[in-house]
Amino acid sequence: MREFTARCVRCRHRTGFPGYRCPACGSPLALELAPVSAADCRPTPQAGLWRYAGLLPRTGHAVTLGEGTTPLLPMAPPRHDGADDHVNVHSDVHTDVHIKLESLNPSLSFKDRAMALAASAALDRGLDGLVLASTGNAAVSAAAYAAAAGLRCRVFCATGSRADAKVETARAHGAEVELVDGDYSDAYAAATRAEGESWLNVTTTYRNPLLTEAYRPIAAELVEDLGAVPDVVVVPVGAGPLLRGIWLGFTDLRDAGLTTSLPRMVGVQAQACAPLVRAWNAADWESSLREPVAVGPTAATAIADALRGYEDEGLLTLAATRDSGGAVVAVDEPAITAAGRDLARRGVFVEPAAAAAVAALRISAVPAPHTSAVPSRWRAVAVLTGHGAKEPSALAVLAGQGAEEPPIPGRNA
Ligand SMILES: [Zn+2]
Repeated sequence: MREFTARCVRCRHRTGFPGYRCPACGSPLALELAPVSAADCRPTPQAGLWRYAGLLPRTGHAVTLGEGTTPLLPMAPPRHDGADDHVNVHSDVHTDVHIKLESLNPSLSFKDRAMALAASAALDRGLDGLVLASTGNAAVSAAAYAAAAGLRCRVFCATGSRADAKVETARAHGAEVELVDGDYSDAYAAATRAEGESWLNVTTTYRNPLLTEAYRPIAAELVEDLGAVPDVVVVPVGAGPLLRGIWLGFTDLRDAGLTTSLPRMVGVQAQACAPLVRAWNAADWESSLREPVAVGPTAATAIADALRGYEDEGLLTLAATRDSGGAVVAVDEPAITAAGRDLARRGVFVEPAAAAAVAALRISAVPAPHTSAVPSRWRAVAVLTGHGAKEPSALAVLAGQGAEEPPIPGRNA
């Protein structure tokens, strides 16, 4: 495991962990981890997230519910019947698409990786528990891992957010759910006030710099399963720590000498709530992020994040995307719906936010891979972030016969 320090992403001020914002300038923090050797990048006999312990920041505990090592499946090429042509990346390039089923983690989303690490860090420091703002996947995951670790869990849920099965599941794991007047940003502020000395804030934006680090092993798992570095990795993004964490994992493998290339990272947002896409296409990322975001209805609630009050966290995702030579793209509701249905017809049931990754593969804005010549085959991976089983909007998407039924309103924005 790796020694680490927390450092401000803007002024480089070094600070302690747990810390959430730079004490000098107020900007987000990122962890700096000690370099890895090739041996550190190899799988270990440990269970869950800890199978790739060598890539992770050092902890004294190893809480697990069996997360990680999720399946990577080839996605068959489109059958040319007109129904599934959306899996083409470019019509003139033969694309080899794989799907990474993060939807099969213990609480059915990728957040379990972060919560295994966070619960372990909280135990190391003798903290009372985990606190977060969420109405969705993160709440269920934090509650489950707090329960597994014998920690308490407090979930701040905005009254403007519709309490649903996910909140009830968090309660079933023993979490205290507290309602906050207002919207998600008000819940974020309440969780921030509660973090204090004895609670670890695990709100899954970039608030807690530890959480991003838990996604590094995804890169190692992809290389392990593919036998090569993919050309493109497509990731649904709200604030986007998942994209950044996977990218950092690929840089670890390269820095350790195990691989020689890096993938282009492609972030995907729903067109109805796409502050990162707008900023990506603007000359000045920071001023674009500070502009209010119009939020329309979307089925992809898990990525409908307007970043209000923590706009600067979006810069971390944009920087990782730029460093990779990738892009941030938006997909509309009919495309999300079509992709969700197509996956379901292949036996894979995911939440609409995850379907957005497959929908994005048809977008021609996805840049060509890192090679001097366009290869005859691309290897693309779509990261399917969450299962459809606990997501009512997933069923709504599948229930309709056409792509034109009205999507349900976003809740997290
Ligand atoms: Zn600073």
